[in-house]
Amino acid sequence: MEQPKCQICGRALENLDSINRGIGPECLTKRERFLAAGGSNVEEIESLALCGDPNVTRWIPWIWGAIGKGRQGDVDRFIEAARRARQASALPAAA
Ligand SMILES: [Zn+2]
Repeated sequence: MEQPKCQICGRALENLDSINRGIGPECLTKRERFLAAGGSNVEEIESLALCGDPNVTRWIPWIWGAIGKGRQGDVDRFIEAARRARQASALPAAA
């Protein structure tokens, strides 16, 4: 089995809660902070991640990666790109 890694920083996850979440404890608060500063939140990104349109979902790892690198400007841009892709998407909103 592949070692589960943090979606944000890429470090190996050991704690079961972290593995279930896909994110380590430090990155959890970091993610909250960067998304809030970008005018978003975890719920919005998760609903974008679930929409099923690859034009939208491809931005999600970029958002996490930018948070991992601490680049707020990139976080903002990738959130915006995902939102625009979602608006342009022909797929209906996720239930
Ligand atoms: Zn992490």
